[in-house]
Order: sequence, then C-alpha cells, then structure tokens
Amino acid sequence: MPEFANGRIPESKLVSLGRGRNGDGAWKHLAPPGTAARWNWMVATGRAKYGVTLRITPGWNLFRPFDVQVLYRERLGIMAAMPGFSSHGGIFGGRDCQAIDVQNWGDLAPGNANLAWARFVALCRLAGFRVDFVKPRETWHVGDFDPWKVPAAAAAFRVNPITVHDQEDDMPIIVVERADSKLAKGLFDPTTGKLRREISKSENNLYRAAQKANPGSVIYATVSDKDYAILRG
Ligand SMILES: [Zn+2]
Repeated sequence: MPEFANGRIPESKLVSLGRGRNGDGAWKHLAPPGTAARWNWMVATGRAKYGVTLRITPGWNLFRPFDVQVLYRERLGIMAAMPGFSSHGGIFGGRDCQAIDVQNWGDLAPGNANLAWARFVALCRLAGFRVDFVKPRETWHVGDFDPWKVPAAAAAFRVNPITVHDQEDDMPIIVVERADSKLAKGLFDPTTGKLRREISKSENNLYRAAQKANPGSVIYATVSDKDYAILRG
C-alpha cells in the first residue's frame, strides 16, 4: 500500500534534482530516492553511450504536488489528469509510481525518430522505467513503479560511465527491420550509428527467442525502406 496520498508526499521524503522559475512561480524536480537513483543512472548511461544528456522537462514534471495538479487540470482540461490521479503524484492505479517527463529523448538520434525511440526505450528498460503506460500516448512520459527502493549499487551502477564507451555487453542488441520488407534486418551499432551487418533469418530467430526470455535484452526498431538504406550506409 502506498504510504502517502497522491500529490501529498512531504518534500522531506524526496530528493531534489533541480529547480527553476516559470510563469507559475518556482518549481522543483523532486523524486523519491529510488527514482532519483534510476534517473541519475540513466542520465550517466545516455551520456556515456550517446553523448546525450537527457533532461527532465522544466516545471513540476517529476513529482507534482496536489495543488499543482489542480492548476494543470484547470488549464489543460481533460489533457491533464484529474487531481489526485496523476502518475506524477507518486501513485498510479493504486500502486506506487513516479512519472518523469523527459524533454529531449529525440536527441538520442537527431533526424531519426525511430532510432532515437529505440535507444530511449532501451535506456528506460535498463534503468527500470516503463514507457507507454498512459493514454493517450505520451512518448516523453516514463514511470518508475518501484520509486522508494534504491537499486542495489552493484545493479544500478554496473556500467561505469567513464569507461562504458567500449563496453557493449550491458546494452541491448538493437535489431533494425525494414517496414516494407520483413526479410531485411540488421544489427545496429550504437557507436557508429549504422548497421554493423545484416542478419539471416535463423540468427533473427535467436534474437526473437532472447527477446522473449529477457525483454530488455533485444530491441526491435522498424524503419522505412529509405531510412534502412541510410543506416546500411
Ligand atoms: Zn508526464
């Protein structure tokens, strides 16, 4: 059972990751400790792997206090959650959940939204965030469903952000497939931004099996024929 009501978590229980001011006054990026640890890990990994520093959208886009939920609802109508039901409030569907809005995941592959999305999903899965859990779909909105538990140091910081450039083992295999031809598939190489090589049907079957056994280990990204040709180089 969640310990606090939605939007009513005392600030003393939360970790501050940033602050600023906008037209509404001062805002803060406040996170439960587990969410803060996952987020910091994901930022470090995104920086090490892709040279991209992921950012939280300025404003109350991490923990959102109840009175701010009321304000957003007044302003945005049904586009904002009913006050007391936002996944930014620390509870979602009766469970602990802390949402974060990520401002710049598209930077993970400028000009190639499919690839940027594949990279973002991979990072989120490794860090322990869920994507795509609200309707209508909000690609920037990710959720931590275990926000109070700080991951064990060994698991959370297994990737050393300084030396990770040459370590591919912790990253998922990314299989790129052509939207218009189910036969053409290739392995994506995050270090070059190109396909490393194309794969056979039987090799692909192995990746499908691995994906089923461990959903975070293999990511499938579908791209248009044109983008596939660009990736193939
Ligand atoms: Zn959100």
